[in-house]
Amino acid sequence: MDPGDYLLVALDLCIRSEEWPPLVSRHARNHSYKMKGQKSEGENHTITCRAAIAWATNSPLSIEEVQVEPPKAGEVRIKMTSSGICGSDDHVLKGIIPVKFPLIPGHEGAGIVESIGDGVNSVKPGDKVLTVIIPQCRECSSCLHPRGNFCEKQDILPSSGLMMDGTSRFTCKGKKIYHSFRTSTFTEYTIVPEIAVAKIDDASPMDKVCLMSCAMPTGYGAAVHSAKVTPGSICVVFGLGGIGSAIVMGCKASGASRIIGVDINEEKFPRAKALGVTDCLNPQKLKKPVQQVVMEMTGVGVDFAFEAIGLTETMIAAWESCHLSYGVCLIIGVAPPNSKLSLDATPIITGRILKGVCLGEYKTRDCIPQIVTAYLQHKVNVDPLITHQLPFDQIHKAFELYHAGKTIRCVLLF
Ligand code: NAD
Ligand code: ZN
Repeated sequence: MDPGDYLLVALDLCIRSEEWPPLVSRHARNHSYKMKGQKSEGENHTITCRAAIAWATNSPLSIEEVQVEPPKAGEVRIKMTSSGICGSDDHVLKGIIPVKFPLIPGHEGAGIVESIGDGVNSVKPGDKVLTVIIPQCRECSSCLHPRGNFCEKQDILPSSGLMMDGTSRFTCKGKKIYHSFRTSTFTEYTIVPEIAVAKIDDASPMDKVCLMSCAMPTGYGAAVHSAKVTPGSICVVFGLGGIGSAIVMGCKASGASRIIGVDINEEKFPRAKALGVTDCLNPQKLKKPVQQVVMEMTGVGVDFAFEAIGLTETMIAAWESCHLSYGVCLIIGVAPPNSKLSLDATPIITGRILKGVCLGEYKTRDCIPQIVTAYLQHKVNVDPLITHQLPFDQIHKAFELYHAGKTIRCVLLF
């Protein structure tokens, strides 16, 4: 087997496994890690620490002292070690993903369990973990279906900003602070439901693996796991940011023969080419709509199109770039609330597939730890996505770099 095959086997393991759920998770469930009387040194006390708070939409983040309550039943308190800055965090701050303010944003996080609430048995203090925006409760219709991953206990669509009991664990200056997707990683300590905590290998480098919590499974997984990009296929990727770059890596690993990258920021092109993009297009410099140019370049349209921006116009362009009969269009970008896709209805009968995908369609707690292990075994690499690393207190600089289009992923270190 060549290295690419190993990689696909590793990352496709969860779905191809004939037994469901996979052996690894059944083992974890049957084996109670809980150590009676040793929950943690910090049990039952509130922690005061620093966190970045967004007090309102479109207002600058401010680093404040916050109080983080002890974890309640089924919850885990985590000392953060690193967090990526994802396009979705920017959507949150701009109100493109509706959330409640004031809140502590951030979701692409890695950390170490500080303490656990009653009944938590899949992690213990000292474990290395990732926070995941899509939990895996293992009980709902999505979790019980072999292909479903959008767990009913998620707090994204819609977002209550609260833990599962309807209350918050954060306060600042006496005010209640909301959680972001029940992850909130721009803080030295956070609280996450156990069902949204993925335990990872003890050898994981914590300054890197935070990207395994979102960018890598989302992008790479969209290509290798959800679309199942085929060898020799032609792909187009709209948006060459963190998610788009991970998609390109997944298309390349799957043996795509041509990968067209589309972005309005040409500074993204050299890195995208290094990852596997064969042709770069800047729609703002084209005389025709980008989908028409993709059609002309390929003759018949692409096998796989990915949208990783979050705009309806690029979603339509991705759809219209696909081969009429067998093209598959995957939407990864998050569009603003109440926006509608207007598609030419007649050609829908021709066979093209339109599909949305969240976190690479992975069952998060089962699969994400396996992707981390694949990384430790050098079967998949997250390092090319990390362009910057900054201390947490330089979060403003990190966002400035992001807005200037300089970063693929900037990792905040605690
Ligand atoms: P990013 O900001 O790093 O990347 C977006 C890229 O799109 C940038 O390179 C930007 O220059 C480019 N772009 C902006 N407008 C464009 C246009 N009109 N035409 C072409 N290119 C354009 O963001 P990201 O972290 O890569 O996230 C991308 C999208 O994916 C966001 O909408 C985010 O919310 C979403 N997302 C979805 C999931 C999921 O599971 N479905 C997970 C994470 C992120
Ligand atoms: Zn994300």
